[in-house]
Amino acid sequence: MAKLRLILGDQLNTRISSLSDVEKGDLIVMAEVWDEATYVRHHKQKIAFLFSAMRHFARQLEEAGHAVRYVRLDDAGNTGSLFGEVTRALKEFDADGIITTECGEWRLACDIKHWAEKLGLPVEIREDDRFVSTLREFRDWAGDRKTLRMEFFYREMRRKTGLLMDGNDPEGGEWNFDTENRKSLPKGYKSPARKTVQHDSVTKEVLTLVENRFGDHFGSLADFRYGVTRDQALRELDSFIETCLPDFGAYQDAMATGEDYLNHSLVSAYLNAGLLLPMEICEAAEEAFREGHAPLNAVEGFIRQIIGWREYVRGLYWLKMPDYAETNYLNSQRSLPAFYWTGDTDMHCISEAVRNTQEHAYAHHIQRLMVTGNFALLAGIKPQEINEWYLIVYADAYEWVQLPNTHGMAIFADGGMMGSKPYAASGAYINRMSNYCKSCRYAVSQKTGDDACPFNYLYWDFLDRNEKKLRKNGRMGLVFKNLDRKEEDEMTAIRDSARKFLDAL
Ligand SMILES: Cc1cc2nc3c(=O)[nH]c(=O)nc-3n(C[C@H](O)[C@H](O)[C@H](O)COP(=O)(O)OP(=O)(O)OC[C@H]3O[C@@H](n4cnc5c(N)ncnc54)[C@H](O)[C@@H]3O)c2cc1C
Ligand code: SF4
Repeated sequence: MAKLRLILGDQLNTRISSLSDVEKGDLIVMAEVWDEATYVRHHKQKIAFLFSAMRHFARQLEEAGHAVRYVRLDDAGNTGSLFGEVTRALKEFDADGIITTECGEWRLACDIKHWAEKLGLPVEIREDDRFVSTLREFRDWAGDRKTLRMEFFYREMRRKTGLLMDGNDPEGGEWNFDTENRKSLPKGYKSPARKTVQHDSVTKEVLTLVENRFGDHFGSLADFRYGVTRDQALRELDSFIETCLPDFGAYQDAMATGEDYLNHSLVSAYLNAGLLLPMEICEAAEEAFREGHAPLNAVEGFIRQIIGWREYVRGLYWLKMPDYAETNYLNSQRSLPAFYWTGDTDMHCISEAVRNTQEHAYAHHIQRLMVTGNFALLAGIKPQEINEWYLIVYADAYEWVQLPNTHGMAIFADGGMMGSKPYAASGAYINRMSNYCKSCRYAVSQKTGDDACPFNYLYWDFLDRNEKKLRKNGRMGLVFKNLDRKEEDEMTAIRDSARKFLDAL
């Protein structure tokens, strides 16, 4: 008998495990449902990207001869939930089982687990083999290790994939070339121009739908640039390898006013939705190195993000959920300031990061980590509120990848499962890595007072407030030594400035 094969919005690849043995007579079900589009108030571009990519993928499957039941958001009878749409499809299609690939969020995974019982039909949930590491491999690697450091997991992934390996040794004799990265931008540096995507009638229709139905969600559709097919995603990848990869490593941590992408790849939304696969991206980067087009520090740094960080956060998420999301190690209780939504703040670094986020549903890693993330950490924003913000505002955000990055890496709410110490920094870091401070109303050179950069006094106030929990961290020794050197009247000024600023938020 025939199977119903459910494809979720982030599973848009013909090589997805749920389609590996698809047969004539099976029905592929895809649905735009209200519940998924609104369980958080996703950025308009995130919804538009996914709906348009889903519609294009469904068409591709139909053209390949498959039977597809595609339910649009506004179709009559749309129940608004995935379970409702599967139930409705089963009324019209006689299936003896459902096949799907495991989803990317704990919330939905818990729901799907009960479908077999509710429907009285077998539901086969297949492993998502779009990743380099299986979840079992990660669990075995984690074993009873006291600390789960990405760097060691990454080396395993290099050995497993053979990427940038010279026999049993890493290419160039080192596993990690980050010491050659992290440069600030040379004066007048202009990043390479990006290819633009021509939108077809499908995308135009979706953009109208999103404006009409989700008009009050965060973000603007005015500069929607996402590709929505695999071919378009591949073209963006080629263009990145050709023009941006050579400088990717050097300027990976840099930021500049008006430079929304710098040399970053912009592949995350495609990768997480299935339009691109991790190994094809890494192999293209490795080839650029082998051909002498891009240096080792850039290519190693790039590949590490994908087979290292990306795989690692996924493993950590599924290993630690659901308790992971509930931790609040630093007992952060402050509400999310309104400027995370409006960008309306005198802190130029934050208004730039929020502007980029509003306009493109994108910000690059250092904007996410060292600007909006760093501020949330220093100001003690409630984990739930800042986590939800990150899940809403980025086109690449799914909980499996967003949560460890925000909850763990950015705000240290997990107490150090993900990172060995908090990524806390004063204005000096932002000033070193960007030109933001030149256009800011605050003075990065001032430590306290109304005109001082808030990151400066918030940084020391953060260490002071959290001393009991952080001083014992071996990697924080030096910063606490510096805190100890501060005179009492300086500490009083820091505490006063921080209190005044935070009270006014
Ligand atoms: C607070 C915070 C929240 C984040 N939320 C998300 C998210 O919701 N979704 C998401 O995909 N990434 C997230 N990241 C990781 C990273 O910032 C984005 O993957 C990256 O900015 C996407 O842009 P890019 O494709 O141009 O990346 P590049 O800088 O070009 O990097 C290449 C690829 O490496 C992968 N990568 C790099 N760093 C990470 C990382 N820390 N974790 C997982 N993958 C990584 C991504 O797939 C990315 O596309 C977050 C990071 C932080 C600090
Ligand atoms: S001075 Fe401070 S607030 Fe202003 S841009 Fe620099 S780091 Fe940001």
